[in-house]
Amino acid sequence: MMNFDIPDNLMEYLQELDHFIEQEILPLQWQDDNNRFFDHRREDARTDWERGGLPNEDWEALLQEAKRRADAAGHFRFAAPAEYGGRNGSNLEMAVIREHLATRGLGLHNDLQNEHSIVGNNVGLLLMIHYGTAAQKAQWIEDLSESRRGFTAGITETAHGSDATHMETTAARDGDIWTINGEKSWNTGIHKASHILTIARTSGSAGDASGLTAFLVPTDSPGFKVEEMLWTFNMPTDHGRVSFTDVKVSDSCVFGGEGNALQVVQHFFNENRIRQAASSLGAAQFCINESVSYAQQRAPFGKPLSRNQGIQFPLVELQTQAEMLRALVHKTAWQMDTYGAFSVSDKVSMCNLVANRLCCDAADQAMQVHGGLGYSRHTPFEHIYRHHRRYRITEGTEEIQKRRVAGYLFGFMDRTAPKGVNTTA
Ligand SMILES: Cc1cc2nc3c(=O)[nH]c(=O)nc-3n(C[C@H](O)[C@H](O)[C@H](O)COP(=O)(O)OP(=O)(O)OC[C@H]3O[C@@H](n4cnc5c(N)ncnc54)[C@H](O)[C@@H]3O)c2cc1C
Repeated sequence: MMNFDIPDNLMEYLQELDHFIEQEILPLQWQDDNNRFFDHRREDARTDWERGGLPNEDWEALLQEAKRRADAAGHFRFAAPAEYGGRNGSNLEMAVIREHLATRGLGLHNDLQNEHSIVGNNVGLLLMIHYGTAAQKAQWIEDLSESRRGFTAGITETAHGSDATHMETTAARDGDIWTINGEKSWNTGIHKASHILTIARTSGSAGDASGLTAFLVPTDSPGFKVEEMLWTFNMPTDHGRVSFTDVKVSDSCVFGGEGNALQVVQHFFNENRIRQAASSLGAAQFCINESVSYAQQRAPFGKPLSRNQGIQFPLVELQTQAEMLRALVHKTAWQMDTYGAFSVSDKVSMCNLVANRLCCDAADQAMQVHGGLGYSRHTPFEHIYRHHRRYRITEGTEEIQKRRVAGYLFGFMDRTAPKGVNTTA
């Protein structure tokens, strides 16, 4: 018989996480005025305006301490294989956990802006496990596992985002040495990253899905330069625009094999998109829950707001969508675990497309229900809106998600091999 219950062991794990948050994370959030990073002062407290809008050092140190505690308690690497200290977390488990953490609202347990969480969405580690050479693994696995060090994704260019196969950065080989020239933009985490995973054309011509190669380029390489930091809707910024002028790297920096970059990229996005969808669903549910609760206690014109169908019905619509989406997210994540991630890439895109929109709609409605308070920074809805609005563009835009669904619907993409569709972060 089919069973839609969340398995008992996963329900117990959610309780264990809640307990850990109460015992170890909330006390840290409330210590030393750390709550300034989450209350109405959040954007200002997080941003180092003196350093051009970069994340404040204290803010990043606090996130690091939360991760350290989560790793010591055995939560941070939940998704990693057991041999790397993880718990072999499945896509379904990660989806349920990420929804649960986001449903709790803003906090040090699961900050939106940095995609920080006590249960790490450590896709860099998963890629390293899948695609790293023995030498790269030896160099990276421990640091990535503990989030001590990371690499930024260098896919997008100023002139090319959705159309990754047209990117203009090149790498030319001479013996064991590659020379990279070009530029990349929107490299998240570049201010701290020791390396940039740079996708460059090594053969073929613009538009070819093959002939693109990924390189792990050290950011202290001569010829590499951070040109500027890009300010966004949600500050601080850790997104840079960078250039490569005759940057030399050895063959040992090739990641995932020559010509295989699109597969690496697609793998990254497929994993990330379902988790992002689950987070957006959780954040949407938080906005709905807060609105229902506020409508029950706010009483303009002498009766609770919740008695008005004008207040009820938009929330009913949102809750209906959330229920439908939850079923699709669970089913899709389960199918990824059971049949392989690429067999249901179209469903992953559907989940992502609907979830990110739903979250923006729910945050917008929450602002409306909360009136002036909803527009203020004393409630979290503006922050939720600003962050999740980004997901409608990054990780593949809405249109690119639709393009993938269309590819499966009309049969111009197959369900096994990643094709030359950009899906950039
Ligand atoms: C906060 C943030 C963080 C990011 N982090 C990273 C990162 O770490 N690494 C990285 O490499 N990139 C990163 N990006 C870049 C991001 O992946 C791209 O912005 C995204 O892929 C869209 O590319 P684009 O901006 O060039 O838009 P374009 O590709 O120029 O698209 C412009 C518009 O046209 C639409 N469009 C494009 N093609 C079609 C089509 N065929 N049919 C219909 N509509 C179409 C798009 O959907 C979009 O609405 C980040 C971006 C942001 C904002």
